[in-house]
Amino acid sequence: LFDDRKNSFGPNIEIASEWTPFQAKVNAFMGQATQWHFSPIVGGKQIATGHTHAVLSPYDHSEAAGQIEWGDASTVTRAIDLAESAFPAWSARPAGERADCLDTMADLMETHYAELVALCHREAGKTIQDSIDEVREAVDFCRYYAQQARSHFATPTRYTDFLGQQKQAQLKGRGVFACISPWNFPLAIFTGQIVAALVVGNTVVAKPAEQTSLIACRAIELLHQAGVPGDVLHLIPGDGASVGAPLTQDKRIAGLAFTGSTGTAQLINRTLTNRGVAPVPMIAETGGQNAMLVDSTSLPEQVVRDAVRSAFASAGQRCSALRVLFVQTDIAERVIPMIKGAMQEQSVGLPYLHSTDVGPVIDKKAQTMLLEHIERMNKEAKLIAQSELPSFANKGTYVAPTAFEIDSIDQLTEEKFGPILHVVRYKARDLDKIIDTINHSGFGLTLGVHSRNETTCARIVSRARVGNMYVNRDQVGAVVGVQPFGGQGLSGTGPKAGGPHYLQRFAIEQDL
Ligand code: GLU
Repeated sequence: LFDDRKNSFGPNIEIASEWTPFQAKVNAFMGQATQWHFSPIVGGKQIATGHTHAVLSPYDHSEAAGQIEWGDASTVTRAIDLAESAFPAWSARPAGERADCLDTMADLMETHYAELVALCHREAGKTIQDSIDEVREAVDFCRYYAQQARSHFATPTRYTDFLGQQKQAQLKGRGVFACISPWNFPLAIFTGQIVAALVVGNTVVAKPAEQTSLIACRAIELLHQAGVPGDVLHLIPGDGASVGAPLTQDKRIAGLAFTGSTGTAQLINRTLTNRGVAPVPMIAETGGQNAMLVDSTSLPEQVVRDAVRSAFASAGQRCSALRVLFVQTDIAERVIPMIKGAMQEQSVGLPYLHSTDVGPVIDKKAQTMLLEHIERMNKEAKLIAQSELPSFANKGTYVAPTAFEIDSIDQLTEEKFGPILHVVRYKARDLDKIIDTINHSGFGLTLGVHSRNETTCARIVSRARVGNMYVNRDQVGAVVGVQPFGGQGLSGTGPKAGGPHYLQRFAIEQDL
């Protein structure tokens, strides 16, 4: 069951005897779901605002996962005031002390594993496997960035030249960082951004995605418990207009980490630039129009397993997910019927059941957009297969995993963030042209390659311009410290999260 994150730093709940008690704990938290009621956390305390919103469970809208109070411009200003005053003392602390907080946070998430998994089910509609991976990735980010900070931020770098000149430089925090995170990795990406900014010596004001603010609030409580002072880290739930805008417009924001859509990244970038202050770094991880290229030497069984997982795991709600599968004509008649067969085997269902492969999509807006795309494709493309929806699907926001055959990637203008796969047949002589078309889309996040021919693999890898390439495997689930993750062009600015160059972008290099 739990075999796909073997390289994790975190705990791996794979011993059968540990599973049943763990699941009982998760179920207990699921039963008490409405206990979760949070408001903005400023200066280490929750501040009631009265702007209360119910957080819906994507698999059943009649069940509220909890209540969340949103902040507003004045909450944002108060948080930035405190974060600004806390910066000198926090950045002066030895890097090792800040790293200790990250390790303690990792320990605390392991202690609270069952509650965090329950929140992933309830609020994000994540399956059991995805929820376990989510917590483990958050743990990995903490441990990895703690290690990196101890190696690169604890002591100054010394430079000398042959004439005897000497200097020392120290990597240091920049000031107040804004962290704006997505609902599709509501704990892992949320925690990853924040701990990266903190461990370097920045103070942080974070805005979680409005769909998944409860788990974010729990994570902030745990970070404070782990030793991060209340005035150093603040959380303001809300939407773009109520919280995102005042946060990104404030002249004191010294850097920003964002994961989400390309359009929102462009808007934030303009807002930061228009503040009329010195330019600041923005680290953006955005969307993709990810392809997998399959040639006639590949193994159909392996291709189908990896393509189906890459397209439909997490209901296709990963930036890394496969959207366009290019299959060489010579092998297409074998691969396409097998995809259909595999999709008929997929079980779409309640996220907290073992039998479920694919859960719901996040909300009504996402569902409507995806259903509209399916409607358009039904007119313009050939349906390959559609997995069956459960009888209770209309209680929540489900979209049946669907695969279409299309003539060209040009039929797709933008990323469709959900369980829809497009298949294109190609002739071997057109391979270079296809890679060029993928490059010209402007996106450059993940690319899958299936081929037994080493020359073909090398040719594709050297020509394609994407952040993460995966050869003869699936293309989702990058492991922290092993597959640093991030894109190019419309897919993001880099540096890659979970990689050795990430923390430096949150810092300045100051001579001593
Ligand atoms: N790192 C994730 C993966 O490799 C994707 C992150 C995202 O969707 O933003 O699947």
